[in-house]
Amino acid sequence: MKKWLSGWGNYPVIESKEDSFVFTDQLAPLIEDELPFIPRGNGRSYGDSSLGERTISTLKYDKILSFDTVNGVFECQPGITLSQVLEVIVPQGWFLPVTPGTKLITIGGAVGSNVHGKNHRKEGSFSKYIIDMDVRLASNAVVTCTASENADLFEATCGGMGLTGVVTRVKFRLKKINTSYIKQKQIKAENLDELLLLFEKYQDFSYTVAWIDCLKKGEQFGRSILTVGEHATLNELNDEQKKNPFQLPAKKMLNFPFNLPSWVLNTFTVRAFNFLYYTKNFKKEIDSVVLYDSFFYPLDAINNWNRMYGKNGFVQYQFVLPLEAKQGLVEILNRISDKGMGSFLTVLKALGKQESMISFCREGYTLALDFPLRSGVLEFLDELDEIVLKYGGRIYITKDARMKPGMLANYPELEKFKSIVKKYNPDGKIRSAQSDRLLLTDIK
Ligand SMILES: Cc1cc2nc3c(=O)[nH]c(=O)nc-3n(C[C@H](O)[C@H](O)[C@H](O)COP(=O)(O)OP(=O)(O)OC[C@H]3O[C@@H](n4cnc5c(N)ncnc54)[C@H](O)[C@@H]3O)c2cc1C
Repeated sequence: MKKWLSGWGNYPVIESKEDSFVFTDQLAPLIEDELPFIPRGNGRSYGDSSLGERTISTLKYDKILSFDTVNGVFECQPGITLSQVLEVIVPQGWFLPVTPGTKLITIGGAVGSNVHGKNHRKEGSFSKYIIDMDVRLASNAVVTCTASENADLFEATCGGMGLTGVVTRVKFRLKKINTSYIKQKQIKAENLDELLLLFEKYQDFSYTVAWIDCLKKGEQFGRSILTVGEHATLNELNDEQKKNPFQLPAKKMLNFPFNLPSWVLNTFTVRAFNFLYYTKNFKKEIDSVVLYDSFFYPLDAINNWNRMYGKNGFVQYQFVLPLEAKQGLVEILNRISDKGMGSFLTVLKALGKQESMISFCREGYTLALDFPLRSGVLEFLDELDEIVLKYGGRIYITKDARMKPGMLANYPELEKFKSIVKKYNPDGKIRSAQSDRLLLTDIK
């Protein structure tokens, strides 16, 4: 069936033939079809990573295959969402080892982007916890791979944006928890220097993330709120929480009912939001114990929040700079506040060492910002690209909708990745709008 599809940023929108399958034997003919395709999970990548002439949706291929509740090992088909996995594992005292800022992605998508969370510095990205997985190649052969068996396929599939084949089964390790609550601390930082010191001071916490006011200048440049957290123990819960220590969050969601007119979000409204957000914490430090949803997935509480940016959509710009390139962070934040192109969801995280071939994460700081699509935005992001490149940084491919191929220069194993894609996908049968734009698959 032909459909107009987009990623979470609603830009670009592409007409695509969408195929889907429920049973294993329905996948082979879809792969044999002569039209090229790209695997698609829940479309939560922001740009064109899971868009193309044809998509193969995995959403109906979503069964749990096994769950070892003693050792914390979970095995499933790729279309299951993190939200569905959590509903099964949390009541048994287990949690996802790594989770991004939304639980509305699939396990296939977690592999395809090799997602990271607020714990990357201490605990790495999703691929670190994969025991083994099956990949169905363009030839229709199914290959089981691990970090040591068919290791080239494993490495190029984790973070490989679906270009090696369709992941059809994943077995991975879970993280033991004693309750479904998080003990969190929020600390206000007056400016960027203080924030970076706080990141160091709290580096032993499993989870760390900061919101930054990217429009402030002068003494308050980079004012922010750092949030750190740990899974809470039973003793840390209050009496009410102790009644059900593995409580699941309520399923209620608010809905953003329509696309906001594009003039509503402007420098003035972003400044007003930033002021309210920063001053909501009237104390320097606040300690609390909250359910995992409000710690990990605050945005999921509002269904379709992407409509806030209007019908033209938005681009998320996420880059990482090496630890020593603080000046690059300052330059980029200055350019944004000078242009008045502020983003109110501006998130800074610390990342740990690079641990896989093509994944985004490397040691340093990563900043993610949203820019509504307006005239001049794409040109402005090209300017930011130059700063990112100059400081040895890179852009997160799964958030991208517009960068040029040269921006992949600081992915050190890019050429090796491309050659493995060519080995397993020799005729470019598996390709996305993004892989064509970034020259990851040869243009036909
Ligand atoms: C609000 C929000 C917050 C986010 N926060 C983070 C974050 O903190 N950290 C982070 O790392 N990411 C984050 N992301 C990005 C998101 O986690 C990734 O884009 C993820 O890959 C989306 O998964 P999906 O199931 O929606 O897949 P899609 O968006 O449909 O696809 C993403 C990629 O995975 C590939 N893929 C999907 N399924 C398969 C499969 N079965 N086999 C092979 N390839 C497959 C696709 O081809 C595509 O290249 C966030 C996204 C949103 C919307």
